[in-house]
Amino acid sequence: MTSPQADSPTASPPGQRPWHALPPEAVLDAVGSSPDGLPESEARARLERHGPNVLQRVSGEGPLKLLWRQVNSPLIWVLLASATLAITLGKVTDGLIVLAVVVLNTLIGFVQEFRAGKAIEALTQMVPENATTLREGQKVTVPSARLVPGDVVLLASGDKVPADVRLLAARNLQVEEAALTGESVSSEKRVEPVEEDAGLGDRTSMAFGGTHVTYGTATAVVVATAGATELGRISQLLHETVDLQTPLTQALAVIGRYITIGILVISGVLLGVGLLRGYGVAESLLAALTLAVAAIPEGLPAIVTIALAIGVQYMAARRAIIRKLPAVETLGSTTVICSDKTGTLTRNEMTVQAMWTPSGSYVLSGVGYAPQGDLRRGEEPLASPPEDARALLVAGALCNDAALQSKDGTWALTGDPTEGALIVAAEKAGLRVEELHTRLARVDAIPFESENQFMATLHEDGQGGRSIFLKGAPEVVLRRCALEEGLGVDAILTEVERLASRGMRVLAVASRSLPASHAGLRSEDVTGGFRLLGLQGMIDPPREEAISAVQACHTAGITVKMITGDHAKTAEAIGAQLGILEGSRAVTGAELARMDEEKLCEVATSSNVFARVAPEHKLRLVRALQKEGHVVAMTGDGVNDAPALKQANIGVAMGITGTAVSKEAADIILTDDNFASIAAAVEEGRRVYDNLIKSLAFVLPTNLGLALILIIGVAFFPILSIAGKPQPLLAMLPSQILWINLVATVALALPLAFEAREPDVMKRLPRRPDEPVLSRFVVMRTLLVAALMCAGATGLFLYEYNAELARVGHELALREAQTMAVTTVIMFQIFYLLNCRSLLDSVLRIGLFSNPFVYLGIGALVLLQLGFIYLPFMQRVFGTAPLSLEALGLCALVGASILPIISVEKWFRSRHARRERQEREERDNNKRLPLRLPRRAPVG
Ligand code: ATP
Repeated sequence: MTSPQADSPTASPPGQRPWHALPPEAVLDAVGSSPDGLPESEARARLERHGPNVLQRVSGEGPLKLLWRQVNSPLIWVLLASATLAITLGKVTDGLIVLAVVVLNTLIGFVQEFRAGKAIEALTQMVPENATTLREGQKVTVPSARLVPGDVVLLASGDKVPADVRLLAARNLQVEEAALTGESVSSEKRVEPVEEDAGLGDRTSMAFGGTHVTYGTATAVVVATAGATELGRISQLLHETVDLQTPLTQALAVIGRYITIGILVISGVLLGVGLLRGYGVAESLLAALTLAVAAIPEGLPAIVTIALAIGVQYMAARRAIIRKLPAVETLGSTTVICSDKTGTLTRNEMTVQAMWTPSGSYVLSGVGYAPQGDLRRGEEPLASPPEDARALLVAGALCNDAALQSKDGTWALTGDPTEGALIVAAEKAGLRVEELHTRLARVDAIPFESENQFMATLHEDGQGGRSIFLKGAPEVVLRRCALEEGLGVDAILTEVERLASRGMRVLAVASRSLPASHAGLRSEDVTGGFRLLGLQGMIDPPREEAISAVQACHTAGITVKMITGDHAKTAEAIGAQLGILEGSRAVTGAELARMDEEKLCEVATSSNVFARVAPEHKLRLVRALQKEGHVVAMTGDGVNDAPALKQANIGVAMGITGTAVSKEAADIILTDDNFASIAAAVEEGRRVYDNLIKSLAFVLPTNLGLALILIIGVAFFPILSIAGKPQPLLAMLPSQILWINLVATVALALPLAFEAREPDVMKRLPRRPDEPVLSRFVVMRTLLVAALMCAGATGLFLYEYNAELARVGHELALREAQTMAVTTVIMFQIFYLLNCRSLLDSVLRIGLFSNPFVYLGIGALVLLQLGFIYLPFMQRVFGTAPLSLEALGLCALVGASILPIISVEKWFRSRHARRERQEREERDNNKRLPLRLPRRAPVG
């Protein structure tokens, strides 16, 4: 074998050799590596040469496509038509302004969506992909991007294959290669070389980058990374679409279409009214187009996208990475959260506290991974473990893939905490686990898989023979044991229940002797003939923050259900500590399997703790809950959890312990694996939705208000006869309306996306998923505010026009009156914005200055509006005229009238909301009552 430094792939490009047809030793030789992997320095040098192992990602939607999507909207076509018409009719300035606005609007929309897309894309990539590799025989976790040809990697079920690898050793390895071949059925992989001309799908001695391990384990050597992998060669670019569409944006797009059609119809009517009243065609058309421009909420799409993007960032700060944008909204209507237990609701810091052997019971003192504490029988510490305890501890510590390291006085664990606990227990009792590993060397292993619930290892027994150590769920291990005389299964199961009902995870440990000739471990070696060594019970305390998060969910009308692979008694004890159990009992996976659909739906709703659950039960539970009308968030970490995660309305994967497969199936990834972060995400989801509704309630009234102002003007104002031609008296010009719609509305509505949570956000019931976007509240509010705005602006327009007509003549009086009408609308908006900061509460209660962005927006708008009124350049473009201080004060006064009026409206509405909540709670309780009653009855 050549030395690792040889790195021959540089001489002959990787990927070009028939790695699949070569035996493993020849491949190792060719890539200049060894079964122990590369030395760190060599790996670093190769990384320099080969570059990082990443495929370049591109957004699925190119900038041009995104730009076209901005232009290709009914709104833009209406605006373009009105610009063309205005220019044709000789109103060149108006036409050009509309055109400028179209360009500006398109650009703003484009830039915002592009930035939002990038930000979300960056966030979704925040969850790093790691790989386990051997560096000089030591297992280390490195980012997949740092892998180089020659690295030896360890693969386990749930992993994403990080690069193209040639298998060196494999146990029951199955890989799903859909990413590469489109074939979603997993294929079996073996170490044996295959024919040189075998197709990609038949190269069973290889695993390719981007595919997923669905079962088994393997050791393999990297032969190609990044662009040199098969996936890289098929597409140099990894297309990643970040879809910015959500149910809300889709609903808004539909509403937008209806609004546009409605407005075009009303514009047509207005045109008819104008002509009937004797105006010229040009004037009537202009009035009709002005109406179209006024009533369409141009700024809304940008506002919604930005609010969602901000929501995603806030959630990331609270440790929930959104992978699919619609989840931001769905979170707000979640009614049930189904959570794993271990690590999510509990700390995943296992400590063995109790041991039982056929000859006695023991206690271990001390908590955590520090091997400080001792083995006791009763109160009495034991200097060295008695024979029965020793056998149990040795088998537990050796049937084990975890490792303990001490760094700067603190103990850290690599591997599974359940296994770590067994090592710590052995060390506490005075055994040196490293020594044991040397003396009783491991020959082979069957790793732990959730669906098997056991792990087995084959060892030298130190006396010329071999032993299998088996550990796992007691039911599973006991089934394989031949029990000694006088030892009944029932007695052992009673002991298991005794420990489990104290909240402990209980593992049974057994051994079997074999002759020295037994070389490997096959599944038929672990079917029976074992001797039970005993039980180890370990505690894993609930997370403090999970207890309060469960409480918060309950207050928010969300039911929390715990779904665990653990024993029913353990689940019940932990469920009770977390406040989830609520007097019911745990339902087991076996019971679920026996239920028909109807019974399942009933039990899924009424029970909150499910134990010994397999991934397929999770899928059935999600479906049953959804059938009962629930919006379900479901956590999962294993490879087999993917279907349930996809089925759930919100699939939640674990960032630290989750498999790559579960992460890819999820809508949200928790960076800290903590239940509290789901509750935080729900809270954020509700906030984002509230803020979107606030934006709607803010934006829509202005559009309707402007439309009303124009309709009333054309239909009811006196006809002016200028130069012998009748002219409509328009309270605003198209350009001025666009100013309000785009500049003022966007400047003011955007800060709403930063609005903090409403004080009662987690005291309300979840939003009904079928609640229309244009809820009764939004519609009523729109009508009310639009009417006020119309009355105020029209009133001041007429007042100013009539007051000034005699003094300065028609032209200037009209300009002043129009300027005043625009300023009044803007004043309304400024004061109404303060109202909109909270849906039900008064601005004083939520804190006048709690959202500084609001005042930034208002400040910016006031400056812009002053420019609009007083700057000669703006006056020319927008047809405005300077206003007196008195006129300005009048606008502000009329605008401010909205504050008390909406405050009264809110007061009535919050009283109504409280009553409705009470009624709904009573109704829900009544509905649930019959389901809750039989809880204690046997299920199934
Ligand atoms: P949860 O669903 O609450 O997160 P979990 O996913 O940790 O629980 P599993 O890992 O499926 O549950 O464990 C199920 C059972 O398998 C445990 O109750 C335990 O008896 C057994 N078990 C867990 N880990 C191991 C292991 N490393 N070796 C052997 N048996 C194990």
